[in-house]
Amino acid sequence: MGQAFHLSCGCGYQKDVFVGEVMMSMTLPKIRKVFAEADLSGFERAVANGEDYGMGSKIAYCAKCDGLVSASVLRYTEEGETKVLNRTCPDCGGEVVIRETAGNCPKCGKALREDQSGRWD
Ligand SMILES: [Zn+2]
Ligand SMILES: [Zn+2]
Repeated sequence: MGQAFHLSCGCGYQKDVFVGEVMMSMTLPKIRKVFAEADLSGFERAVANGEDYGMGSKIAYCAKCDGLVSASVLRYTEEGETKVLNRTCPDCGGEVVIRETAGNCPKCGKALREDQSGRWD
């Protein structure tokens, strides 16, 4: 389940992002392709232990682009603790910081307006 949001700000900044999670127990090969092998050691242990996991998308801030992007995230449980791996920026490949909410405009710092623009299952 996921939702698409149109983020906009009075300064003119706008961005479409996707937020949500899909249970993807069928798509291990895809996860192994999308994430670097070196990052997946904990995840592979979780899978071997039969732990629950899921892949999805979250709002993230990319410092290189100085903007918000949708970043793929992988969630799994290791020793009872929830871990989240996130991918790099889909636009420039740079490191991103996941945001739980849209938060403030990366350009002017004012609160962003969030309009739900769609949803998927
Ligand atoms: Zn970027
Ligand atoms: Zn702004």
